[in-house]
Amino acid sequence: MDIKISQSINKALDGGELTAAELRELFAVHHLSEESFLIQQASRTLSEATSKGKAEVHAQIGIDTGPCAKNCDFCAFAVKNGLFREPKVHPTREIVEKCLRFEADGANAIYLMATAALALPAFIAIAREVRAAVKPELPLVANIDDFDEEGAKALRAAGFAGIYHCVRIGEGTVTAIDQRVRIRTIQAAQKAGLKLGTSVGPVGPEHTVDDLVATTIQTRRLKPANNASCRRVNIPGLPLAAHGTMTYAQMAHILAVVRLASGYDIIGHGTHEPNGIGAMAGANLFWAEQGANPRDVSEQTVRGWTVPRSREVLAEAGWEVLQGPSVMFAPS
Ligand code: SF4
Repeated sequence: MDIKISQSINKALDGGELTAAELRELFAVHHLSEESFLIQQASRTLSEATSKGKAEVHAQIGIDTGPCAKNCDFCAFAVKNGLFREPKVHPTREIVEKCLRFEADGANAIYLMATAALALPAFIAIAREVRAAVKPELPLVANIDDFDEEGAKALRAAGFAGIYHCVRIGEGTVTAIDQRVRIRTIQAAQKAGLKLGTSVGPVGPEHTVDDLVATTIQTRRLKPANNASCRRVNIPGLPLAAHGTMTYAQMAHILAVVRLASGYDIIGHGTHEPNGIGAMAGANLFWAEQGANPRDVSEQTVRGWTVPRSREVLAEAGWEVLQGPSVMFAPS
């Protein structure tokens, strides 16, 4: 056992903030080594402590499809990827029905996701219908385009508890969005009282340890209610697919290091495309996704698992799954 790895693990468990150099060493550990398993076990300990042993399942519905000018290389909706020609918003009745199903299945929060092509007023009009239909205490989270302070206030007034927003790895290079715009949106949301869920991703085999360190430190600075990590899901034929895909075992190591970097102030730690190995390694948040999705070419898809299946896998990994509204997006 490398003494420096052991010291970094203990530092994180003692509440210390890991430096870039320490994170670099932790990310560089091989994901099947003894050191990695100790990192994953420490990550699990930290998540158990921050969440009082509780896991959550958040359900997301993608409400529109169509070409998006933000042109994220990894996304099915990017104009340049040419997979969707016409904008299409799913019927509001159908969106509300899916959200009621999520609620009945025990989702702890509901996310409404839209492409950057859907204008905020149109998004908010749909959200108001969902807000009126589901229980008032069930948190709604917006996963949408960038917005300003007025937009943040409008989301708050429409009944949102939070946003899901990330500075993606390679933002501004593999996307047409300036990193500073993403950060300004997050700051506007937090100023309006919206909580933040974010993530380190989408990770691909081409990313370096330095890429992971920089994005992880960025997420920590943003002071989210929950952090996460996700691998890139490759859409066949798109240029990034040539790099291949991370395995869930590799992602379990990465999410564990991100967890150690996140510290005790961040309650939740998620994994996209629910990773059962990750649930052992400290992930206490799964997303069940339906409708449209940037990681899929179908207008109506299921990504990850359903809410009941997600709850079951978390329970099999030894988590008590929270009943009722999310603690991660609870009002402060
Ligand atoms: S990830 Fe979002 S912002 Fe980027 S192209 Fe897809 S829909 Fe647009």
